[in-house]
Amino acid sequence: MLRIKSNIGFQIGHMLRNMSTKLQGTKRIKDVTENVWTEYTALAAAHKAVNLGQGFPDFSPPDHVKKALATASTGPNHLLNQYTRGTGHPKLVNILSKVYGKLMARDISPMSEILITTGAYGALFCTFQAFIEEGDEVIIIEPFYDCYKPMTLMAGGIPKYVPLRPKYTEGKEPSSGDWVFDLDELKAAFTEKTKAIVVNNPHNPLGKIYNVDELQIIADLCKKHDVLCISDEVYEWLQYGKAEHVRIATLPGMWDRTVTIGSAGKTFSVTGWKIGWAMGAPHLLTHLSTVWQNCCFHSNTPAAEAVANAFEKELSIFDSNECYFKSLPKELEGKRDALVPVLKDIGMKPIIPDGGYFMVANIADLDPTIGEKEFPNDFRDARLVKWMTVHKKVATIPCSAFFSDSNKALGSNYVRFCFCKDEQTLTDMKAIFGEWKNEI
Ligand code: PMP
Ligand code: GLN
Repeated sequence: MLRIKSNIGFQIGHMLRNMSTKLQGTKRIKDVTENVWTEYTALAAAHKAVNLGQGFPDFSPPDHVKKALATASTGPNHLLNQYTRGTGHPKLVNILSKVYGKLMARDISPMSEILITTGAYGALFCTFQAFIEEGDEVIIIEPFYDCYKPMTLMAGGIPKYVPLRPKYTEGKEPSSGDWVFDLDELKAAFTEKTKAIVVNNPHNPLGKIYNVDELQIIADLCKKHDVLCISDEVYEWLQYGKAEHVRIATLPGMWDRTVTIGSAGKTFSVTGWKIGWAMGAPHLLTHLSTVWQNCCFHSNTPAAEAVANAFEKELSIFDSNECYFKSLPKELEGKRDALVPVLKDIGMKPIIPDGGYFMVANIADLDPTIGEKEFPNDFRDARLVKWMTVHKKVATIPCSAFFSDSNKALGSNYVRFCFCKDEQTLTDMKAIFGEWKNEI
């Protein structure tokens, strides 16, 4: 598999070098090469590995959610299979305005402050295209969800990375909250060229939930330097223990300069539906809408109708423990806790996430020669991940993928495990790690 892939890469490289300049890709995409999801998802499939890599739930979404999609497509209103309003299916923008109006304690106009897109990816893409000019600087807090970099580059922008670094307390279990930015470093990253900052909260891959003081620092810097805040909150419902997710757009003065992004995929465990949204003041959303209407025009109508009905149902039981926004995090918290000893047993040091789908583990204490012969050109984390996928049949994601080029070495001490998985998947993984432990 690996050999086939690199042969294809070689052939494409050869063809490109000999190709007429008019048939070359644009300079916008010149530096956008690798994609971690394409590579590691294919590797997991090729080796039939137990997949704790790509972040998707392999358990069933709630029945009412699945039924809502079937009804939207096959029910009496056959027009739900046709085009809908460009900037958002009316029923969905209406219910989102109610949901977020309640959560953000403000009136949100369904028609001018919400845009429905194809997944959160669609919303992110529109935001970058709408606001980033050639040469604009975009602050990205690293580690970072990988697409922020190519999306900045494709818009002509320049990524400026600000690292989160671990500051653990002696004798206390490492937690995602221990990863913090340095105030001076963050301040220094804001220049007159800074157009936007991307904040991913809860965070992928660390599972960090920014506390209100951290968000206030970011908000104050945005206001001081007149900077747009792109707040990717796709894991907004997934918070564990005492952690509490605060929406940065709710801090004073931030609604007017924040685009908040959400995902039905993560909200209802339907990542394949690809319904996402952007929310913000009309003077921001109008530019996203311009991009969107000339990109896809609108997103999938039956899926949007189904998401609207799913929200309606959850809103009607919002304060009960049955509400999916409570029951899902509760279930995932158990899966998170059960994964910790399994990773520790083979010598990894897990960083306990406060939110999200993922647990990052430090692999520095494992045998550094694992995978060295087979994958000599990779960083240590990628070597381990490939070796585990091929030989142990457990797929994960190497964290160097979430770091900038100059900090990949730092990321290469970490591997990301997705625990948003069915009990059977996790049991299979635990059995494999149990056997591996006996070999060490
Ligand atoms: N942002 C983050 C942080 C993600 O992890 C993902 C992956 N789901 C996305 C955005 C994209 O979400 P969607 O699948 O809705 O496009
Ligand atoms: N968001 C998912 C993750 O972090 C992956 C999405 C994708 O495959 N592009 O695993």
